[in-house]
Amino acid sequence: MYEFRYNAVMKIFHSEIHRRHNPPFEVFDGGRRVPYLESPARMDHILSALRKTNWADIKEPADFGLDPILAVHDSDYLKFLASAWDEWQAPVSEFDFAPDNSALLPATFALRRHPHKPKSLLGRAGYYMMDLSAVIVKGTYEAALSSTNCALTGAQAIIEGEPVAFALCRPPGHHAGKDYAAGYCFINNAAVAANELSSKDKVVILDIDYHAGNGTQDIFYNRSDVLTISIHADPAYEYPYYAGYEDEIGSGQGKGFHHNFPLPSGTDDLRYLAVLERAIGTIKTFKPKYLIVSAGVDIYDGDPFGTFKITRQGIRQIGTKIANLELPTLFVMEGGYANEALGENVVALLESFVR
Ligand SMILES: [Zn+2]
Repeated sequence: MYEFRYNAVMKIFHSEIHRRHNPPFEVFDGGRRVPYLESPARMDHILSALRKTNWADIKEPADFGLDPILAVHDSDYLKFLASAWDEWQAPVSEFDFAPDNSALLPATFALRRHPHKPKSLLGRAGYYMMDLSAVIVKGTYEAALSSTNCALTGAQAIIEGEPVAFALCRPPGHHAGKDYAAGYCFINNAAVAANELSSKDKVVILDIDYHAGNGTQDIFYNRSDVLTISIHADPAYEYPYYAGYEDEIGSGQGKGFHHNFPLPSGTDDLRYLAVLERAIGTIKTFKPKYLIVSAGVDIYDGDPFGTFKITRQGIRQIGTKIANLELPTLFVMEGGYANEALGENVVALLESFVR
């Protein structure tokens, strides 16, 4: 009889190409320019903590090309990501100029109620961006592709029989929808990996990042073969504001296959773990073959973006509960900004998967 077993080592996929995405600033509510919080240093903290363990087997990702990404994202959106930086540097029309060429950020955003998709660079930037955090610089597109390749290589490892893999992705992905960038995210790494796995069997994406996984919700909203679950700060008070509500349950074929668990500010270990238990019940009922965890650790007490009070021990218990599902599991790195604690928090989340 088939017996599920974890290994003594965990395959981890990471590429240094992420460093090419290093925006000089972002813009906070109220217009204040601040250093980019989703910084390359985040990966250094995580890698340093992983290297102190005796189970982290860190490898370069393979290159899967554009096809798996185009299976999830809009092709015009991807073309925009590919060419936006060069267009910003060399304006192609009198309507595109670069008042500050250190970063591409539009000042106008589409509400998507309009029939026209503009041709100008700034028009498209506002059309394809949801906010002022998905700043595009010279290396953004390459970094986003390499990040997605980490997730795809992890999915491949799972298909080939690894019980668990960790895609140490940067930039993150869960806020990126079919045709928009948002919340530091450009390509939805977990969604691209889930779509690949879905060609084999049923998949669940469990999003434990502090913020609602609006992009993942958008991508799978009409599908029943990929169950999506997000546990997060209530969008009534927290970013991304416009998705992540409890009554959003999927539509058409996908009705009943999306679940949001919005939580109040100040949520502690006890409350969180009780809600996770409900989410795990939903996963068991669905009977998936594969599990993807959108792994954000900005739920941690002390995260500069978070309002939750989850301790490191709480994060460890979250990992243990997920490990007890005994499903082939791909972790995909999302948020987490308490840099000094970030590495240890990621280790705490993962270590129940090494036996
Ligand atoms: Zn987050």
